[in-house]
Amino acid sequence: MYQTNTDFSKIRKLITEGNQKIVILSHRNPDGDAIGASLALYNLFLKMGHQVEIVLPNTFPSFLKWMKNADKIHIYDKQPQIADKILTEANIVFALDFNDLSRIREYNDKLKKSNSYKVLIDHHPAPQDFADLTISDPRSSSTAELIYDFIGELGLISSIDEDIASCIFAGIVTDTGCFSFNSSQPLTFNKVASLLTCGINKDYIYDRIYNNFSYNRMRLMGYCLDKKLEHLPEYRTAYITLTQQELRDYHFKIGDAEGFVNLPLSIEGIRFSVLFIEKKDMVKISFRSKGNFEVNKIATDHFNGGGHRNASGGELYESLPKTVDKFVNLLPSYKDELLSE
Ligand code: 5GP
Ligand code: MN
Repeated sequence: MYQTNTDFSKIRKLITEGNQKIVILSHRNPDGDAIGASLALYNLFLKMGHQVEIVLPNTFPSFLKWMKNADKIHIYDKQPQIADKILTEANIVFALDFNDLSRIREYNDKLKKSNSYKVLIDHHPAPQDFADLTISDPRSSSTAELIYDFIGELGLISSIDEDIASCIFAGIVTDTGCFSFNSSQPLTFNKVASLLTCGINKDYIYDRIYNNFSYNRMRLMGYCLDKKLEHLPEYRTAYITLTQQELRDYHFKIGDAEGFVNLPLSIEGIRFSVLFIEKKDMVKISFRSKGNFEVNKIATDHFNGGGHRNASGGELYESLPKTVDKFVNLLPSYKDELLSE
């Protein structure tokens, strides 16, 4: 594990002393890794007798709600006063699975001002330096895997029970696309083996995450593939756009477009795939790539975003057609990179 600050003694002391007021934060549009990592720590700290709460900026997809105590998560958008109170009272803050405070813009001011001891645990490149302890490893499959390592640093591996192990496993599985990327380090599999030893039901977890979608989501996926998929083989690129009206037509619920951005990558020759979703006053964009093509550069340089080399996101306060135009006009300047190898 790579850390910008290697001193675990303070956090180890605080956690083993017991009875701390802990708050766990993660990023907007929480994914399986954000929820799995947060609930793994939550369930561990609860078991140890700490007062612990999770606060997320907005709600999360229902295919993640099976994890133990998922119903205890506070959503800032829904209850800002309660979330503010929790943040103000905490003496330890864990920030998980984000490297950039803009991803929790609702309460990043409160976080900066808080006197709490702050721990960042994350696997995105180049984390901002705001925490007292930064645990950052961009080579790690997921933040959930780093939570496993962190529990090890605390000397608490034997406290990982089936519920905690299931949360960690869910984070690793979702952030590696079921071990199809970011998962070539043998140690990841050693950790997964130890999670299986804790009694997790791997097949049940897979089923809850991947075979639990709504009928409307399936129809929307069919519509995207048939009517909305743009194929630009000259740039080895394909993209999908969805308007607000189309989302309404298919009774869209949060999480329904999960995984859509990956679909074009299974077309022969395609190595860059993009999903544009029209929101009320902006467009949310997801980027995915295969190989060395760095989508986080495009996300950072042109779409107010960031992320990993092969999986990034961003947003543009423009109309959907203007956003797509901007994107298509950028492609010629990336042509050499897209066509290399
Ligand atoms: P997704 O496409 O699944 O929403 O996001 C993929 C990855 O891109 C996330 O894990 C995160 O690292 C990054 N990401 C997505 N949206 C944003 C954004 O608005 N800002 C930044 N900095 N990163 C983002
Ligand atoms: Mn992650």
